[in-house]
Amino acid sequence: MAFHSSLLLSQILLLFFISSPSWTSATYPIQQTFFRCLSTNSVNSVPLWSYYTPNNVTAFTSVLNSTANNLRYLLPTAPKPMIIFTPLSEVHVQAAVLCSRRLRLALRVRSGGHDYEAVSYVSQIESPFVVLDLSQLRAIEVDIPQGTAWAQAGATTGEVYYQIAQKSKVHGFPMGLCTSLGVGGHITGGAYGSMMRKFGLGVDNVVDVRMVDAKGRILDRKAMGEDLFWALRGGGGGSFGIILAWKLKLVNVPETVTVFTVTKTLEQGATEVLYKWQNIAPNLDDRLFIRVIIQASSADLTANRTVTTSYNALFLGDSDTLLGIMGKGFPELGLTRADCVETSWLGSVLYIGGYPKTTPPEVLLQGKPLFRNYFKAKSDFVRTPIPVEGLLGLWKIYFEEEVPFMIWNPYGGAMARVPESATPFPHRRGTLFKIQYVATWQDGTQSMARHMSWISKLYDYMGSYVSKNPREAYVNYRDLDLGMNKKGVNSLMEAGSWGFRYFKSNFYRLVQVKTRVDPDNFFRHEQSIPSLHVKKWN
Ligand SMILES: Cc1cc2nc3c(=O)[nH]c(=O)nc-3n(C[C@H](O)[C@H](O)[C@H](O)COP(=O)(O)OP(=O)(O)OC[C@H]3O[C@@H](n4cnc5c(N)ncnc54)[C@H](O)[C@@H]3O)c2cc1C
Repeated sequence: MAFHSSLLLSQILLLFFISSPSWTSATYPIQQTFFRCLSTNSVNSVPLWSYYTPNNVTAFTSVLNSTANNLRYLLPTAPKPMIIFTPLSEVHVQAAVLCSRRLRLALRVRSGGHDYEAVSYVSQIESPFVVLDLSQLRAIEVDIPQGTAWAQAGATTGEVYYQIAQKSKVHGFPMGLCTSLGVGGHITGGAYGSMMRKFGLGVDNVVDVRMVDAKGRILDRKAMGEDLFWALRGGGGGSFGIILAWKLKLVNVPETVTVFTVTKTLEQGATEVLYKWQNIAPNLDDRLFIRVIIQASSADLTANRTVTTSYNALFLGDSDTLLGIMGKGFPELGLTRADCVETSWLGSVLYIGGYPKTTPPEVLLQGKPLFRNYFKAKSDFVRTPIPVEGLLGLWKIYFEEEVPFMIWNPYGGAMARVPESATPFPHRRGTLFKIQYVATWQDGTQSMARHMSWISKLYDYMGSYVSKNPREAYVNYRDLDLGMNKKGVNSLMEAGSWGFRYFKSNFYRLVQVKTRVDPDNFFRHEQSIPSLHVKKWN
């Protein structure tokens, strides 16, 4: 009874607060108004949730930092949210949308916190802003007879892999190689992994979704219609609504798979082998994924350094079959039986994820990244092999940086069979491989300008060897150098500067969907899809 009367009181107060905004902000902190609004809008849900404000510095900082992957965006100068709200139920997410909207608060959504430019927890264009952190919504239900799984947005890729493997040794799901990504943000951008040549991307294997839209409604695939369901599968996070959970169609994996890593230095003919790899890797058996991790042998600029190219691979089959394929298709790598490690599919997840050999799979349940750095990254797609002279020039730039890092991921196979417009992710047929460039450092702002300038130089150099018109980029490797929404202004022209690179002509359809489902541009960030109805934000 007492509960009901206090609820009624809070509802009356809320109406009062919301109907007189100037009085509200002058007399009561906006945080309080927001919390009251949440209470009122969560009446039928579990009553508890967690929220954090800068008033309690220790708890606030700990939650903010908990999944934030790029330390560059945790520097004291990075804008901080006014509130971090951690919902415990779907109703809380609906309440957060309704209340942010009513109180005109900008809302950022975070699942796993791996956004390269931190748009899930930092706003460079609006203040104040609220972070909705979905890390407590991480339930996973695997249904082997149906061959599907539901995974809530805050679940990590590693947790999903672990739970699938608990139920079956012959099922898996093709998404990220890194095991701490949140499926909420990861799948919205495409989600590639070591089974992409056989099964395509995460988005190619998603069959349903639950999402909260800009009106606070929960929609599934049927309720939202195919257009919005299309946009969610690759159109990038934070533009259309809040993903609560994805329904994944599991894929069949063999009980035994094989992994290997073979490294070649410049002295061991790395340049020539890499030149060959460019044409070979995208045309090998679909079950074989051989990426190349390219580093410097030492971080000491004055040392006698070389470039190391590590061929890090998964084959969905046994080592005998693999050796046969490699002997015919890629003998230049010189793969031997001793290099091959036979394991389970979950074992391959740990191996490719970089965990030491004896790590128990339960490490995946911690949902924690293996590394955290200050970093800046960029991406490219390559359609014609880079000539040897191009690679030699690349090594020269490599030697100017302490910890240069690139990963080259082969395409072809299933990636080339999915039409460019089937999902917003357009980098399909004709793509040989994708490059990710990364500069990392550990000393905060001290050396930051130097590393940022190095990666720009590297990117400029590579311009003549990669895709053109547009120079394509991967939306999940968000790069704000490609352009960003200006404070308060919605410009289609501006958004085109990154939109066409991430989505090619699918960008037009994404804008149409956005304009229909979120005409007021409630879901927005530095690189969100613009609505044609809004020129100026509120
Ligand atoms: C170390 C590392 C390894 C990576 N490895 C891979 C890889 O192997 N394959 C690959 O494809 N990518 C990889 N990525 C990129 C990764 O897919 C993206 O950074 C992805 O956006 C991360 O999702 P998240 O939920 O962890 O991030 P978040 O920072 O939480 O979110 C990313 C974006 O999605 C939005 N978003 C988050 N949750 C939701 C939601 N529930 N509903 C709607 N929008 C939401 C955010 O607002 C933000 O725009 C890697 C990134 C890192 C840092």
